[in-house]
Amino acid sequence: MAGSNVVETLRKLVGLQKFDNEIFMLNRELEEKPVALETLKQEFELKKSKLKDLEARFKSVQVERNTLEGDLAAKEENIRKAESQLAQLKTNKEYHAKITEIEGLKAEKSMIEEKILMSYDKADEVRVQVESEKKVVAEQEQDFQSKKKVLDDEIKGIQGRVGLLKAEREKLLPDLDKALLARYERILHNREGLAVVPVKNQVCGGCFMNIPAQVINEIKKHEEMISCEICARILYLEEELGL
Ligand SMILES: [Zn+2]
Repeated sequence: MAGSNVVETLRKLVGLQKFDNEIFMLNRELEEKPVALETLKQEFELKKSKLKDLEARFKSVQVERNTLEGDLAAKEENIRKAESQLAQLKTNKEYHAKITEIEGLKAEKSMIEEKILMSYDKADEVRVQVESEKKVVAEQEQDFQSKKKVLDDEIKGIQGRVGLLKAEREKLLPDLDKALLARYERILHNREGLAVVPVKNQVCGGCFMNIPAQVINEIKKHEEMISCEICARILYLEEELGL
């Protein structure tokens, strides 16, 4: 491989690299998009679990009130029983004791009634929170779904573009030496999708380290593919390729 042959091959590699640059960037986007969607989903799930907690709290307030209403009914029953016993009592002492008992029961009853009223207030309060949280969750779900749709469409678009680029790059492959292509692919894989880079101002376009004058002379000889000694990327000089 010498002279115009090396120049010609380098031009082809640069052409291939152009496709691979875009493919690499697009593949990176394809990796990032689902991550963004996952973050959105987690935020949404968090809101949903907050709503579930509130609904559970609303339920527990209701259960608590049912218990209180049971207590109230029992208390009323006790009062009725005690009052019905009054007429059968023989002595003043027994009568006063029963009256005191009834008063005690009534005081307990009004405490329960108080608690029931408070429980209704609490339920109202939680219900308002549940309703507003439901609205937030519904809005977030809609937001999530529409963003998901946008992302899904973008992903499909990118996948389509990658497919197209890959088909285009395939067309360049038969023209290239197999061993060189393998070397190119290996560097591409190991070096962030960048295998062929220009040297500009004596600096490697891949790792930005200095390229010694001697290496630049080697490139200018067009006798073989010259690699950066630091990053192993294949080097070229734009002016030498007429780029
Ligand atoms: Zn380098």
